[in-house]
Amino acid sequence: MTPFVLLDGKEASKAWKETIRLQVVSGLEKNKHRPHLAALLVGDNPASNAYVAGKIKDCEEVGFKSTLLRFPSDVQQEELLEAIDALNRRKDVNGYIVQLPLPLHIDQKAILLAIDPKKDVDGFHPENVGRMALNLTTFIPATPLGVLLLLKHYSIQTEGKHVVVVGRSQIVGSPMSILLSQNNSFGNATVTLVHSKTKNVSDFTRMADILIAAIGKPKFITADMVKPGAVVIDVGINRLEVDGKSRLIGDVDFDNVKEVASAISPVPGGVGLMTRIGLLMNTLNATHETR
Ligand code: NDP
Repeated sequence: MTPFVLLDGKEASKAWKETIRLQVVSGLEKNKHRPHLAALLVGDNPASNAYVAGKIKDCEEVGFKSTLLRFPSDVQQEELLEAIDALNRRKDVNGYIVQLPLPLHIDQKAILLAIDPKKDVDGFHPENVGRMALNLTTFIPATPLGVLLLLKHYSIQTEGKHVVVVGRSQIVGSPMSILLSQNNSFGNATVTLVHSKTKNVSDFTRMADILIAAIGKPKFITADMVKPGAVVIDVGINRLEVDGKSRLIGDVDFDNVKEVASAISPVPGGVGLMTRIGLLMNTLNATHETR
């Protein structure tokens, strides 16, 4: 049987937090600012509340300052744009996020476009997406960055490997495929990007040395879709009711796929935690102006 490694987001995120914390300390010794992340939260969506609470806790752990700006779900777009303008001007805020999703009456694109690209630590602004595509220093979207940091923590090389990414969303699959194919230390892979219009998806997944699932369909990737010995990264987070309890299920059928993979990330406790590290890393870079 193939030896199996759990790509543990708890372990990796703990190690990355310590690296970031030490960089904050060394920055303060050099008279750099304490990184300051702000979050703009609209409404009372329990998942959004939990995500933002987690991000604030992370900030405390690594020595960042954080500010939460809350708005009611019926806030007008104009008021949000004014808050964004104020954050763009504030010298003491290095980066900020607008927690998504926003209520339907708000034009999400207009909000994201209003964010100063130099403070866009989610990396969603078109300027930053363009910089990423051109392999320039930028804020990499937090989830793909988290995946790269997870691979790095476990010393998984990408160069020369065939990576198959399932899902082409603008925040996960598409940037993931661009980053891994670039000529740099975390790229140099040969990348295949498959999506809902791809015929015979499993023909491609079975060729992957590294398989990244970002689909949004519980247990979509089954053991017969995985090459023996492959590394499998599960980005999916699907909330399901199981026996009357809400549970998080990945896009990968973990219990069966772990029997064929050489390494696999769990859900929960995998990429979700690493996404939070991606955000911290971008905020640190915003503060030290290494975007
Ligand atoms: P989207 O719904 O935006 O994208 C899903 C992608 O999967 C699309 O590109 C779609 O193809 C593709 N797809 C759907 N069905 C199939 C199929 N049968 N075969 C092949 N491809 C298919 O989702 P996101 O990228 O935003 O998120 C994906 C998952 O990751 C979700 O579970 C989400 O909750 C989770 N997530 C987790 C994060 C984390 O921190 N761990 C962060 C962000 C997301 P097409 O483009 O053709 O429609």
